[in-house]
Amino acid sequence: MITLTPAAPPATATSPEPSSFDAGCSGHRGLQLTHGLGPFVFDRRGRRYLDATSQYGVASLGHAHPNLVHALSSQAARLTSCFASFGNDQRDRLFARLARLLDPLDRFFLCNSGTEANEALFKWARAVTGRPGVVSFKGAFHGRTFGSLSASAPARRQATFDPLVPGFRHVPAGRIELLEAELDQGDVGLVLTEVIQGEGGVRPLDALFLRQARELCRERGVLFAVDEVQTGFGRTGRWFAFRNPELDPDAVTLAKGLGGGVPIGALAYRSELGDLPRGEHGSTFGGNPLAAAAAVAVIDTLENHDLVGRSAEFGRRLLSLLDGELAENPRVRAVRGVGLMIGIELKEAAGPFQRRLQERGFLVLGAGPRVLRLLPPLVTPWDELESLARAIVEVLES
Ligand code: PLP
Repeated sequence: MITLTPAAPPATATSPEPSSFDAGCSGHRGLQLTHGLGPFVFDRRGRRYLDATSQYGVASLGHAHPNLVHALSSQAARLTSCFASFGNDQRDRLFARLARLLDPLDRFFLCNSGTEANEALFKWARAVTGRPGVVSFKGAFHGRTFGSLSASAPARRQATFDPLVPGFRHVPAGRIELLEAELDQGDVGLVLTEVIQGEGGVRPLDALFLRQARELCRERGVLFAVDEVQTGFGRTGRWFAFRNPELDPDAVTLAKGLGGGVPIGALAYRSELGDLPRGEHGSTFGGNPLAAAAAVAVIDTLENHDLVGRSAEFGRRLLSLLDGELAENPRVRAVRGVGLMIGIELKEAAGPFQRRLQERGFLVLGAGPRVLRLLPPLVTPWDELESLARAIVEVLES
């Protein structure tokens, strides 16, 4: 049983308008959230919303989970910073869990976000292979720093930050002959993929193609890595999406759900392939004891409450409910997803429906202009997911 304690109400009510001090890189949704509890968040007036965004797939245990609160508060009273050149008990506990879950990947670089995990991956691949080329797939999203941005290939790319990092290129997923042609160039050290493109519209890539790509990399001595930043830690009803299809990657990148809301990222790789060179990579905050303690609490809670199995089961039920109810809806092109990562592709802009759902107390995400994306916390009770499905059906029928 998961018991939840109510959070204290906010001391002051603040404006729902965006602050003029905020760089404003992300569009503002006109809500000022002050606290959360389980799968819900609350605005400054105390209005409750079902957070089917998990704040971009982060709050896997929902909000203010007692295990996470306890881990953070007790660790905050012991030690919060401890650079990687010192040993630390919390970091060691996290390493042990990651090694067990990701076997045979047995080396971990800890950082603070998904994009940093991918940057570490690019440097590791370069150090290990000596080759600068990186191939990823059209529709991919790997982050916003220059390397990760160069590996990303949204449907409509803006040229604002050109030139990007040389050596990065993209092939359409599913076209094994085009991937082979890129590897024939001889300069490619790394192929990076998502198993389900999240930002790209909740699009699962073809399993056979992924297996072929993996084998091709093995034959050519090219490293094959999976970005599990969004899909990892139970989101897709498995601990990691690469377990089905069994892809046996050389490296995996992690973040989001790992910390349950606390910033942490990780690169996991096979040490037999070679290491990140000593002194040539690092992170001041990476693997700090506070974040490590949080990640341990998240992993233990996922395990002890079988939240991964629950994600698979509730995800199946939610997908089939939505699929059935929306089958005849003329606005809907497709309903797809795995576990509690579900996309509803519309034939028109998704933004207005996202806003209507918010007015009704349900927060959902977009994924590209026409897809509504659902990433509810893995602790969300079934009746709340049912209410979410009902609200989606109603707004799409109105
Ligand atoms: N990779 C994937 C698949 C993602 O979905 C994201 C973020 O949405 C990232 C990388 C970047 O993660 P972060 O925003 O933590 O840098």
